[in-house]
Amino acid sequence: RRKWMRVVALLNEFEEACATPVTRLRQVVDAMAVEMHAGLASEGGSKLKMLLTSVDKLPNGSEKGIYYALHLGGTNFRVLRVQLGGRTSGIIRHDVERKPIPEDLMTSTSEDLFDFIATSLKEFVEKEDNKDSDCFSVRRRELGFTFSFPVKQTSVSSGILMKWTKGFLIRDMVGKDVCECLQQAFTKKGLAMHVAALVNDTVGTLALGHYNDEDTVAAVIIGTGTNACYLERADAIIKSQGLPTSSGGMVVNMEWGNFWSSHLPRTSYDIELDAESPNPNDQGFEKMISGMYLGEIMRRVILRMSQESDILGPVSSSLRETFALRTPLMAAMHEDESPDLFKVARILNEVLGIPDVPLKVRKLVVNICDVVTQRAARLAAAGIVGILKKIGRDGSGGVASSRSKITSTKLRRSVVAVEGGLYANYRIFREYLNEAVAEILGEECAPFVVLNPTEDGAGIGAALLAATYSSSD
Ligand code: ADP
Repeated sequence: RRKWMRVVALLNEFEEACATPVTRLRQVVDAMAVEMHAGLASEGGSKLKMLLTSVDKLPNGSEKGIYYALHLGGTNFRVLRVQLGGRTSGIIRHDVERKPIPEDLMTSTSEDLFDFIATSLKEFVEKEDNKDSDCFSVRRRELGFTFSFPVKQTSVSSGILMKWTKGFLIRDMVGKDVCECLQQAFTKKGLAMHVAALVNDTVGTLALGHYNDEDTVAAVIIGTGTNACYLERADAIIKSQGLPTSSGGMVVNMEWGNFWSSHLPRTSYDIELDAESPNPNDQGFEKMISGMYLGEIMRRVILRMSQESDILGPVSSSLRETFALRTPLMAAMHEDESPDLFKVARILNEVLGIPDVPLKVRKLVVNICDVVTQRAARLAAAGIVGILKKIGRDGSGGVASSRSKITSTKLRRSVVAVEGGLYANYRIFREYLNEAVAEILGEECAPFVVLNPTEDGAGIGAALLAATYSSSD
């Protein structure tokens, strides 16, 4: 009985430490807007890198023709072909082929990696050519390359890799022009393909969002990791005054996974997770929000409960294993609607090696899922409103600075494209996020903000940008 009380106390403590009342979320909103400002003011001015993407115009629906895209960013890479029919027909069709990256290539040489990519694309192009003889007339094909790693962009179609993340480590690539490597591999394989645009996955998502709805001002990805980008006014990019842009604006890749603020509700579990991660003190926001980590936070809470009580039996070896509980399984437990929480029991048994869990403990486990997910979703929501605040779309009139006088606070419709496996597949996460955005904005402004889920935006958007930028070369 005392052991049960201890577990309940641990849950209550955890719940309190994770609390995100709207007052606290508004502090996160303000911190996000302030950090964005700092990151735009000077290089290294904030934990937010606020990378300039060179993308100064977004697809608007008039694009026509067949365009290709490559998406390299996680464990899978994707090859795409998109057929655009202009304003009346839009995206006529798109084909996607997914391929796992052989693990040895993730830590091999840039040549090996790009040869593999070029070969896969060549096979894909040839297969399509055989199916569809129209394509034989295409002499030079245009491609958008989605490369979801931090890049210092030197133009729309060139950029230098700053560092690898997500398990990739090819030392000879860091500091090199990513497009040049890819273009060289195409030439070597005899593939007539021109790399017209190099884009971050968030930028691809923004491009597709904007193609579908011209009020789209930002894009957020919440999958294994998390990041966001948005359209900024050129004159607000203080660190790069006199930036030549055709539209007076530029897309900024925030790299928001690295955001940090003392207002974030951090627990002992977060601190331990971070300390034991391969990148301590890095990606603090991401570690509270994204799919890679939610299951792991949850595992740490259950482990602690198991260590401090006997209600979960002896501490199992699986429960001690880092990343033993993947977020999709956590979601499955959270969304278990059976009266006896049958799935919860099964996952605890099969995945974490905890058999015969009584119903009241199963309920407690669902409670932990709820706390972890609610905090993640509400913080992501605060991040989104932070972006809207920075560009004066949150109904408050923007961040007041001595440089910009606010002349009008009239509300305009703003759309944010949202993509990623966590948002798309975890219903409760999505609902918490959507609700929190409305709650933070308040009744008056909330109807003007639309979250628009996109699919394959990172890839399709890159093909759209290839179209936008190749037609004007
Ligand atoms: P990536 O971010 O790896 O490029 P995705 O956007 O598809 O790819 O996101 C995949 C991530 O989404 C997974 O790592 C997982 O954390 C999360 N995810 C996928 N399916 C679910 C699910 N059903 N419930 C919760 N999270 C999920």
